[in-house]
Amino acid sequence: LKVGIVGTGMVGATAAYAMILQGIGREIVLVDLNKKRTEAEADDLNHAVPFTKPELVTVGDYPDLDGCKVVVVAAGVSQKPGETRQALLGRNAKVFETVIPKILQHSPKATLLVATNPVDVMTHLAARFAAAHGAPASHVLGTGTCLDSARFSHLLGRHLGVDSSSVHGYVVGEHGDSEVLLWSLVTVGGVPLDDYCQARQILLDDAIKRDIDFKVRRAAYRIIEGKGSTYYGVGAAIAAIVHAIIHNEKCVLTICAPMATVAGVQNTTVAMPFLVGGDGVIAVLPLSLQGEEYAQLSKSAEVIKEAIAGIDE
Ligand code: ADP
Repeated sequence: LKVGIVGTGMVGATAAYAMILQGIGREIVLVDLNKKRTEAEADDLNHAVPFTKPELVTVGDYPDLDGCKVVVVAAGVSQKPGETRQALLGRNAKVFETVIPKILQHSPKATLLVATNPVDVMTHLAARFAAAHGAPASHVLGTGTCLDSARFSHLLGRHLGVDSSSVHGYVVGEHGDSEVLLWSLVTVGGVPLDDYCQARQILLDDAIKRDIDFKVRRAAYRIIEGKGSTYYGVGAAIAAIVHAIIHNEKCVLTICAPMATVAGVQNTTVAMPFLVGGDGVIAVLPLSLQGEEYAQLSKSAEVIKEAIAGIDE
């Protein structure tokens, strides 16, 4: 099983490392403009292999992506001093305009997993370029809020004294400031959150919820302030999504993918709980959101739609 990674900066390389540690795939092909750095990454990664699972990391060019089941796209340019977010977005859009067709030219059956930020917008663009190339719509998805949902379950689990694997909490919408923590749908081992807290006599008032919300929403800012960028969390999320695709897991993940309509907003790309399997996106879960949560998701979907429109101008 061959997995490609296009863009092997911190995020791409860490995703490769996470895959190696878990033995996901048998060959990982790294493609990046910066050959010297990529060769160094491949050497370093291959030296981890004898301690983990059988895997081969190679450095290649687009033709070497032939036969990949999944290609992770983590290529991007970084913000220049004084550059606006929108200008940066425009430059990254240009990168995708050349990179996506090149990947599909050599690996037409691959599912593309987009990790470049802003991931919702970049996934929307990737889907557009992939569609123009004749790729099926299900073959393009982005990391969305997988990491945010993990942060949510982790923080809530710590408060509740329950392992995060037994806490189901979704963060939906934009992977960023306008994301929405769906408190109303949280369950602990299938039990609604309030019932669980009552039975276990755990206090979970508005102040505690606000604190968790803040920590989930602002996590990236805090990490960037402390160490410059984030990559372990998203690297592990990428590895989990790749695993779901190559093993046709059919699991529910809050990835992002283009949607005809979400919370009353048409033709946008935000994260929702999706069923993910061998051909990428299978279906979106029908959430019955009410009131404030619905309104917030609608607003978040609108934020992304406007960012996309900004590029198209
Ligand atoms: P991050 O922290 O998101 O991984 P980096 O700047 O470390 O950000 O990595 C982005 C990577 O994308 C760099 O290694 C860069 O060389 C690569 N890249 C940028 N443009 C292209 C492109 N057109 N094709 C392939 N790789 C690219």
